[in-house]
Amino acid sequence: MFFRLLTSFAALLLVGACTPAASRTPNVVLVVIDTLRVDRLSAYGCTIPTSPNLEALANEGAIFTDAWSPAPWTVPSVASILTGLHPISHGAGKLGKSPTHLDTTTPTGLAAGVQTLAERLQALGYQCDAFVTNPYVRDLLSSFRERVIRVEDGSDVADFTTSRLRSHSDVPRFLYAHFMECHDPILAPDEDLMAVSREHEPRRIPEFWARTLDSSAFPDRERFRRERLHAYDGSIHYVDRQIGKIARAAAESANRRPTILVITSDHGEEILDHADVPRFDPRGLQGIGHGHTLFAELLRVPLVLVGAGIPASRISDPVSLVDIAPTILDLVGRPVPQEMDGRSLLPAIRGQRLEPRGQLGGSIAYGYAKGSWTDLRWHFIESESDAEPAMLFDRSADPTQRTNLAREFPGIVEAIRADMQRAKNTMTVREGRIVELGIGDAERLQSIGYIGGR
Ligand SMILES: [Zn+2]
Repeated sequence: MFFRLLTSFAALLLVGACTPAASRTPNVVLVVIDTLRVDRLSAYGCTIPTSPNLEALANEGAIFTDAWSPAPWTVPSVASILTGLHPISHGAGKLGKSPTHLDTTTPTGLAAGVQTLAERLQALGYQCDAFVTNPYVRDLLSSFRERVIRVEDGSDVADFTTSRLRSHSDVPRFLYAHFMECHDPILAPDEDLMAVSREHEPRRIPEFWARTLDSSAFPDRERFRRERLHAYDGSIHYVDRQIGKIARAAAESANRRPTILVITSDHGEEILDHADVPRFDPRGLQGIGHGHTLFAELLRVPLVLVGAGIPASRISDPVSLVDIAPTILDLVGRPVPQEMDGRSLLPAIRGQRLEPRGQLGGSIAYGYAKGSWTDLRWHFIESESDAEPAMLFDRSADPTQRTNLAREFPGIVEAIRADMQRAKNTMTVREGRIVELGIGDAERLQSIGYIGGR
């Protein structure tokens, strides 16, 4: 029954749109799954059944197979999702002089005058509510009417979201649901661990973060990676169940008002993918976590849109999280503001090819400042420090980014540097506001491994 409801999601939305009593202005639900790397999703080809609900939704709606985050950690990335701007334009997440260390510096908030998607939708009559568990996101939520920040787990986030979808409202809703289970400390109930593997050892999960801080405490790296991935996959399965609840509530309420569901992630997670690449990390970590590099395991993210006005489609053009806000505005029938760095993806959803656009990455949280560029052929990373050489990877021949071709193709490197500069030249540089952490936030940030991890 549940899956029938899911698979009939689009049909119900269509019925909803045709019922005279139904309002045609859709609700918008933005789901951000913190720390979700794309290659562990069954919807993106992973053979482990981590995300059956997302897979079903992706089959009904639009799935972007090459979506990129502009930053490898939460604050600049979520701010880009909510503003349609690159981090240098919205100003949020800056940490001062390079090398940076998030453990010892509070990130900046949005620059004065930057408008968020919530503000823009509110001006159109939307009621905007946010349900998040990451304290760093708090400063980005001032334009939401209701902000629930201290919830226990993803089940609460899903319950808040579904209750709003099911309750009567004369006005459309914009709901932002942020899930933290894939982030340290990973939360994966036994039933979800069992769903992704028969070899499950649940008691190992809480110890993972402590272990990663001292590699000598865990000499068997392969075993560590295996167990870590298992826990991680279980956490994805848990969040996927919550997404199923939200999709079901959206389908069930479609006779009153259709809903557009946007599902994405703010960044990925490294699980010993590039532990052998020398770099300075002020935490003393090597090859684990996020915020510290610009490799694909941190910047490639999922992006799925399903609901009213979205035909089933699979889009392989490179796109960015900065495109989400313009796309949502376009979907609700509003023009894309000129000042946004992103562009509407609606033409691509409707079958048109997008003009190729390279994707800019940066805003490091730990270590020397870095920049990256991803186009159809190449992924390029460079550091401010000479001790960290530039890296160029062939995307199709080397998707896991093992072979650095920068020395072999100096002409490509120079051309990419020029492309990066041209892209930056189109953006307005703004300074973020200085913000203070709220009472209890430091404790919470420590518990999720962001600060004071030692
Ligand atoms: Zn995050």
